[in-house]
Order: sequence, then structure tokens, then C-alpha cells
Amino acid sequence: MTNQRNAQNHTHYDVVIIGAGASGLYCALTAGRRGRRVLVLDHANKAGKKILMSGGGRCNFTNYFVEPEHFIGANPHFCKSALSRYPSWEFIGMVESHKIAYHEREHGQLFCDDSAQDILSMLLDECTAVGVQVKLNAQIDHVKTAAHDNGERFYLTTSKKLGKKRHCERHSIFANRL
Ligand SMILES: Cc1cc2nc3c(=O)[nH]c(=O)nc-3n(C[C@H](O)[C@H](O)[C@H](O)COP(=O)(O)OP(=O)(O)OC[C@H]3O[C@@H](n4cnc5c(N)ncnc54)[C@H](O)[C@@H]3O)c2cc1C
Repeated sequence: MTNQRNAQNHTHYDVVIIGAGASGLYCALTAGRRGRRVLVLDHANKAGKKILMSGGGRCNFTNYFVEPEHFIGANPHFCKSALSRYPSWEFIGMVESHKIAYHEREHGQLFCDDSAQDILSMLLDECTAVGVQVKLNAQIDHVKTAAHDNGERFYLTTSKKLGKKRHCERHSIFANRL
């Protein structure tokens, strides 16, 4: 069961994620479940715009057959360890727990019956359940690091709409394609 917490307007976070797409939102809910104070910033006016376009509006959210040999990359071992820790049925389980109807197409591809909006709503609901804050229309002007006590902090200067300097005590993650 997820840990329901009230989102508070912190100015200090453990994790700041830049990009409220599929990667950023999933990363945020995972960190939130581990008890981290998480802020997601996106310069767009809506989270997960690309999710809504995906799969012709029905989001091909995963596949029954996701194996390391289906991926290419400089380090082929990365996929082996990543997929062994997070097989596709984990995501399918989340989809089912939200009672999202889906169907299989050729080669094991899974699509929503109704709309990709179901997947976006699921990710946002899971983020809310663990206190993740998502701020939109948030232009990131600067990210810098500075020594602090026994470690390092990230300092983010964001757009006037946020109007505050945000401090990140542990990690800043770029879940976008800068
Ligand atoms: C038409 C189409 C159909 C697709 N269909 C599928 C599908 O069915 N299944 C599938 O798995 N994949 C599909 N994809 C690919 C899919 O969109 C991506 O796999 C997935 O959405 C990528 O998510 P992401 O979070 O990595 O990136 P994005 O969705 O691109 O998210 C990045 C986010 O970062 C934000 N951002 C960027 N720069 C900054 C900045 N400087 N400051 C603040 N915010 C910033 C952006 O606004 C965006 O919200 C499709 C892609 C397209 C274009």
C-alpha cells in the first residue's frame, strides 16, 4: 500500500527531477515511495504530453516480451540487471491495480483500451500518493552545486512563476532530452 502523504511546499528536497514525462514521473514516484522529498519541474504547461500522443493515443505501455536482447547500448549488461530488477509485469501490475483496461496486440504489445490519459493519470496519482510535487511552467535558469556540511548540494534557480530558490540535498535528475 502506498504511503499517503500531504504534499507540502518545501524549498528543500532530497531529489529534484527535471522533466515530467514518463521517465521523470516514474522516477519521482519510486523515490517518493522510498520516503524522499521529491520535486518534479517541467517547463511545459502540462505533464506527460508525449504519453498522451503515444501509441496513437492509447499508449503502448509495455510488452509481454521484454528481454535484454531487445535493447542496444554501449553496455549490454545494463539491460540485464535493469530488467531483472524491474520486469515488465511490475508495470502491468500497477496498471491492473488502477483497473485500467488493456489489450494485447501483435508481438505481445500492450495498449490501453480507452486512452493514454489513463496511464498519465495513474503516474500522477501514484506521485500524489507519496507526496511528490509537480510544478509546471517552470523554466530552469541555473543548476549549480556547492559544498555543504559533509556533502554537496544542488541549487536550482527557477522561473519567476516559482519565485524561489530550490535546494536539493541529494540528487538532481535530468529526465529529458536536453
Ligand atoms: C508519436 C509518438 C508515439 C509514441 N508512442 C509510444 C508508445 O506507444 N510506447 C512507448 O513506449 N513509447 C512511445 N513513444 C516514445 C515515448 O514518447 C517515449 O518513450 C517516452 O514518452 C519518453 O518519455 P521521457 O520521459 O523519456 O521523455 P519526454 O516525454 O520527452 O519527457 C521529457 C520532459 O522534459 C521536459 N523538459 C525538457 N527540457 C526541459 C527543461 N529544460 N526544463 C524543464 N523541463 C524540460 C519536457 O517538457 C518533457 O515533459 C512515442 C513517441 C511519439 C513521439
